[in-house]
Amino acid sequence: KQKGRNSICVYAPPAKAELPISTVSLENALHRAWQQQDFSLHYQPKLCLQSRRILGFEALMRWQPQELGPVSPAVFIPVLEDTGLIIPVGYWLIEQACRDLQRLSEHGFEQSIAINISARQLTQDDFAEQLLTRLHQAGIPPQRLSLELTESSLMQEPERAKRLLSQLREAHISIALDDFGTGYSSLSYLKRLPVDMLKIDCSFITDIVQEQDDRGIVDAIIRMAHGLSMTVVAEGVETAPQVELLQAFDCDQIQGYWFARPMPVDALIAWLSEAEG
Ligand code: C2E
Ligand code: CA
Ligand code: CA
Ligand code: CA
Repeated sequence: KQKGRNSICVYAPPAKAELPISTVSLENALHRAWQQQDFSLHYQPKLCLQSRRILGFEALMRWQPQELGPVSPAVFIPVLEDTGLIIPVGYWLIEQACRDLQRLSEHGFEQSIAINISARQLTQDDFAEQLLTRLHQAGIPPQRLSLELTESSLMQEPERAKRLLSQLREAHISIALDDFGTGYSSLSYLKRLPVDMLKIDCSFITDIVQEQDDRGIVDAIIRMAHGLSMTVVAEGVETAPQVELLQAFDCDQIQGYWFARPMPVDALIAWLSEAEG
């Protein structure tokens, strides 16, 4: 921020080096990446606490340009949004997820995939239509796809968002409210939204064992979600004591390094096959 609006720092974890490159060159690199199909998807499993079964996977975008090393989606997604590239990249991502769903099926895994959708994609009038066309073309039942949306992206145009969600729900695509607790949506708004799942942001989970306040918040979110007939997922679960607490609070599902990191589809299939055996 100190460098002003026109520059951005890219953190390259392996070298722990800070690579200051301008927004313009980041934009250029992303345009090239799109032309060369340089993006990929990793999948992180979600575990049901009661049955101990894997219920689905979250698709997380990855970009590892040779010049820069892996760049965090938290850095490049906002640039894809600003440039509008998120629209074509977002459709590619849906197609890729469909291909990966097919591969999973070939190995006997029928779980669903959740895709992150950004605010900019929601402004496309034909978003639902485009999405459903792709599922249909790939022969994937809509039940196998779900969407993760943040409170803030839904709050930009609440009425429009509500119409879109209703349309998607009619088509049997389930909706998760992502990063729950970090936005500003009012409870009356939440009550009116056709949402199936709440994902509690990892910032509430990190210190849940040490901090009584965080425990109170998480407990309350879980009770509220259940009162609204929503499923609750905790993100960023890293330790066994966190799992025990979440289980005591009756949390439905967990996602986090404690049991699996995001991985490419081949590694995921190997991991699932091993977990089954
Ligand atoms: P998110 O939707 O909240 O995704 C969860 C993030 O937490 C992922 O970071 C995941 O790798 C990370 N994570 C999972 N388990 C743990 C854990 O146990 N500990 C910690 N510390 N982190 C964990 P990632 O992959 O870097 O993605 C960051 C954000 O970028 C995502 O946050 C999401 O908002 C956005 N994003 C990623 N892929 C896409 C995409 O395809 N489209 C859109 N629109 N946004 C995306
Ligand atoms: Ca997400
Ligand atoms: Ca989050
Ligand atoms: Ca998110």
